[in-house]
Amino acid sequence: MRSTKIVATIGPASRSVDVLERMIRAGMDVARLNFAHETPEEHAETVTMIREASEHAGREVAVLQDVPGPKLRIGPVQDGVIELGTGTRVVLTPDRIEGTAERLPVAWPGLAEIMHTGDVAYLADGAIRLRVDEVNDGEVITEVEVGGTLASRQGLNLPNVTMALPAVSEEDLRLIDAGVEMGVDLLALSFVRSRADLEPVKERLQAHRRDIPVIAKIEKPQAAANAEEIVAAADGIMVARGDLGIELRIEEVPLVQKRLLMLAGKYATPAITATQMLESMVHSSRPTRAEVTDVANAIFDGTDAVMLSQETAIGRYPVEAVAMMASIAETTERELPYGRWLTDRGGHENGSDESATIAYGAVGAAYQLNLKALVVPTLTGRTAALMSAHRPRMPVLALSPRPDVVRRLSLHWGVRAQLNEEPSETFDLLEECSQAAKAAGMVSPGDRIGITAGLPAGKAGGTNLFKVHTVE
Ligand code: PEP
Repeated sequence: MRSTKIVATIGPASRSVDVLERMIRAGMDVARLNFAHETPEEHAETVTMIREASEHAGREVAVLQDVPGPKLRIGPVQDGVIELGTGTRVVLTPDRIEGTAERLPVAWPGLAEIMHTGDVAYLADGAIRLRVDEVNDGEVITEVEVGGTLASRQGLNLPNVTMALPAVSEEDLRLIDAGVEMGVDLLALSFVRSRADLEPVKERLQAHRRDIPVIAKIEKPQAAANAEEIVAAADGIMVARGDLGIELRIEEVPLVQKRLLMLAGKYATPAITATQMLESMVHSSRPTRAEVTDVANAIFDGTDAVMLSQETAIGRYPVEAVAMMASIAETTERELPYGRWLTDRGGHENGSDESATIAYGAVGAAYQLNLKALVVPTLTGRTAALMSAHRPRMPVLALSPRPDVVRRLSLHWGVRAQLNEEPSETFDLLEECSQAAKAAGMVSPGDRIGITAGLPAGKAGGTNLFKVHTVE
């Protein structure tokens, strides 16, 4: 069983039940919908397709809603794509026009107030570089220092410029409402700068009475500087290397990735490593050696999940890219420093968190006794997530009565989840856990497994028991 999880971005190349089903069979665990593109209605249709494909494939996958947050974007451009020539002039205007190679719309009126002569701006994920010549009458006149191809609604990055944009706009909140309505399982917020940026999202979800996990996308220098408080507060993080490599010096990206993944392990916060992992597979059926090594190294750094973006959204080989990711992960997992991770990532005095101590003890016991699986009845998924953080070599089978919890656990390293009501009698619980592990093909009669439980039953956060059990 593969432990590293695969997040795949859904786009025109993968937006059909047939391709989605093949992607799930090839190993996709989480389907990411980028709400910076397409309408909520189109995303709702995609969610229906994902659920149908998942049923055909017989495996639950989570739907991750990626909310744009305070990212500046250009508006639509003529025919969807234009060329900006090196050495030409282009004006950034707040006017709601269709963009051309001479004038580009930016729907934020504050732009002219924060830009100055000599400032640099990047378009198209950093491929195009503009330098400000002058600011005049609410418009920013720039010279194209490095030209290239620009598509409608692509991002505008202004490194070194602090923007007074709210972390979560009214439009973001409307998108979150739409996501809740369509039943997304995980939510990612772009351009988080501090832990406070997560609050409006959590409040909105609370207003809907939903506990959807909120993943902080780390792609700003401020987020890298505030990494520890964000990792501690978020339900997950994404190392969003695309924008990170524009907002910071590109050479800093590997260092930030390693530090973020180390912190994620310390706080048992699941982490996704994203962007350009198998980029050449947008056009080619095989990745480069460097890309394969990048995926393997992210797994060695301790990531829970690896992500595909353009490869599955617009690429020619969406299914093959997922299969390649799965194969790299399975091969890499043969030689991970499992025992060292257990000690590095756990065993801290925590004062009151009984579930965290039971999870750490259970993984340690599983190594010492060579247990074949850990079975974890869990209401909210937390105990399974805590176990996953210690990176057990044996599979963790999470049993939850909540379908949304079963799906959201798709993100966590080494966890396989399924739906199951928790029986109130402890003896029945042990037998059910044992049978579930056998039915999942993880164990055979005579094998020993570890089972966690909470007494009294049915209380979230109540895990306080560990049992070594022989499968009959
Ligand atoms: C990134 O910047 O790496 C990223 C994942 O974010 P987005 O795809 O929204 O630009």
